[in-house]
Amino acid sequence: MCTSQPHINIPEMIRKKRDKQALTKEEIHYFVKGVTEGSIQDSQIGAMLMAIRLQGMTQEEAVNLTQEMKVSGAILQWPKEWSGLVVDKHSTGGVGDKVSLILAPALAACGCKVPMISGRGLGHTGGTLDKLESIPGFNIKKNPEEMKTILSEVGCCIVGQTAELVPADKKLYAIRDVTSTVDSLPLIAASIISKKAVESLHGLILDVKYGQGALFKEINGARELAHYLVDIGNRLGIQTLAALSRMDNPIGRCIGNSLEVLESIECLKGNGPKDLEELVTCLGGHLLHLCGKAESAEGGEKAIKDVLKNHSALDKFQAMLVAQGVTAGLAKDLCQGKEVLKRAEKQEELKAEAEGVVQAIHSLPLAKVVHELGAGRNHPEESINWSVGIELLKTVGNKINKGDSWIRVHFEDNSLSEGQKISLQKSLVVGEKVEDVPLVTEVIGAQGQKKHKCAV
Ligand code: URA
Repeated sequence: MCTSQPHINIPEMIRKKRDKQALTKEEIHYFVKGVTEGSIQDSQIGAMLMAIRLQGMTQEEAVNLTQEMKVSGAILQWPKEWSGLVVDKHSTGGVGDKVSLILAPALAACGCKVPMISGRGLGHTGGTLDKLESIPGFNIKKNPEEMKTILSEVGCCIVGQTAELVPADKKLYAIRDVTSTVDSLPLIAASIISKKAVESLHGLILDVKYGQGALFKEINGARELAHYLVDIGNRLGIQTLAALSRMDNPIGRCIGNSLEVLESIECLKGNGPKDLEELVTCLGGHLLHLCGKAESAEGGEKAIKDVLKNHSALDKFQAMLVAQGVTAGLAKDLCQGKEVLKRAEKQEELKAEAEGVVQAIHSLPLAKVVHELGAGRNHPEESINWSVGIELLKTVGNKINKGDSWIRVHFEDNSLSEGQKISLQKSLVVGEKVEDVPLVTEVIGAQGQKKHKCAV
C-alpha cells in the first residue's frame, strides 16, 4: 500500500481533487507511477478517478496526466530519416468502420510510415484487429523491432497493444470500466492520446463520430471532445487534427469481420462504396497535407484516390498481410478476389415493406444483431465468429420497391430470430427523397481553428 512519501500523500491528493483543486505535475507523476508499479490500492485509484470524473481537470493537469501515462512504459523510436513522415489515425468507434484497413496501406503507398496500434471490438462497435484476424495467419503481435522492420519494408503495420506500451492505461482503463468513470473528457483524452504518443508520431487525425450509432448522439458533445483531444495532442508535440463525422447509417455496405475485409479490398481497388471512400480520402488527405506530402488537403485527397485507383495501396495491403504472417499465396488470392475467407453457413435476405427512396438505415440495431449473431464480444476473453454479419443490398439514396431484397444476413445454425428480423426491418427508413450531406462535417485544427470541409 502506498499512502505517503516525504511530501506526497495519496489520501491528501484524493481530497485535493475531491475539493476541485488542481494537482501538481509532481503529484500526477507520483500517482501514475504508483498505478503502474502497483503500489497504490485499487480503492484509492477508483476514488481518484471518481474525483477526476466529478471535478474535471485543468488542461495543464490533463496534459501532465497524458504525458505521465505516455512514459509509463516503452516508447517506439524511429530512424531519423522518417522524421515528419510517421502518421496515424484514431476513431472513436463506428458501425462498419473499416477505414484503418484501407487508410494505413494507402498512406504507406504515398510514402508515409504508419505504425498503427489498434484495438479489439467491445460492445456494439467492431475492432480493427478482429477484422484482420479473420484472415488466416494474420498475427497482431509484433514487438517494436519487428514493427520497425515492417515499416521500413512495407510502410505500415496494424498491431495490438502489448504489456510494455502504456501499462498505466491498461490498469486505469480496467478500473474506470468498473467504477463508472469512463465518460470523463480528461480521462478519455489521456487514454487515447497517451497510446498514440508512444508511437512517436508527427501527425495524427482523430475521427470523432456523432449520431445515433456513436458514443455522442449530438454534435456538440463530439465537438467538445474533438477540441480537447486536438489541444492535448498538439501540446504533446503531435500535430493533431480532428474530423467530426456523422455516424447514423453504417459506413459502407458490410458489417461483420470477414465481410468488412472483403469490402476493404474492393475499396483498395478503387471500387469501394462512396461514403467509405469519402472518409478514407478525407482523413488521408489531411494527414498527407500535415506531413508535407501534399500542398493542400484537397491535393492529399487526390493522392489517396490515385493510390486506390492504381492499386498501389492494395499492393501495400498485400505486403502488410505477408509481413504479419499470412502466406504469400493466400494474401495474393484474397487481394485478387478469390474466395479464401470462410463464409457463414446460412444467408437470408429480407424484403422491403414499402417503396420510395432509402432515407436512412439506423446503424445501432444492425450492429446489435451482428453482435448477437456472434461477431462481437461482451468481455475481453470471449471468442467470436468472423464470418457472420450483414450486407446491405440497398443503401441511403437508392430507390426501393416493395418486395425488393435490401439486406442479406450471414449467420450460423438457426441463430437469426424473428425478433432480430423485426429489429432489422425497423432500421430501414423509406421516404420520398433524401438530402446528400457530406459524412465529414467539420475538421478542427490546432487552437480550435476550423479547417475547410473535405472536398469529396
Ligand atoms: N478509447 C480509449 O482508448 N480510451 C478511452 O478512454 C475511450 C476510448
